[in-house]
Amino acid sequence: MDPVCGLRVDPEHPVAASTYRARTYYFHSAACKAEFDAHPDQFVHSADVVPAGGTTEEPGDRYGAQRASIEATYLEHGAPPEEAHRNAEAIVEKLHRPRGRA
Ligand SMILES: [Zn+2]
Repeated sequence: MDPVCGLRVDPEHPVAASTYRARTYYFHSAACKAEFDAHPDQFVHSADVVPAGGTTEEPGDRYGAQRASIEATYLEHGAPPEEAHRNAEAIVEKLHRPRGRA
């Protein structure tokens, strides 16, 4: 799976690949690889939630990519990393919860 945009990538025919912390990540475009290479921690963080050897079709993965992108937006606006992460998690949780609770 492309950790940047969350699209599925065929590991046999990836458009681009990058190795980080002894794990290989595949990307559906060179732009996604460039984004990953620029801030790998931002994307690996959500990918690491999935246990090693776990399924590749984890629903949390998709939310993880979305959270990473929200988190990145906060960081771009100068929020401290911890705050950006907390805010992003809260937003994603609200978005994917049928009955949103404040
Ligand atoms: Zn992508």
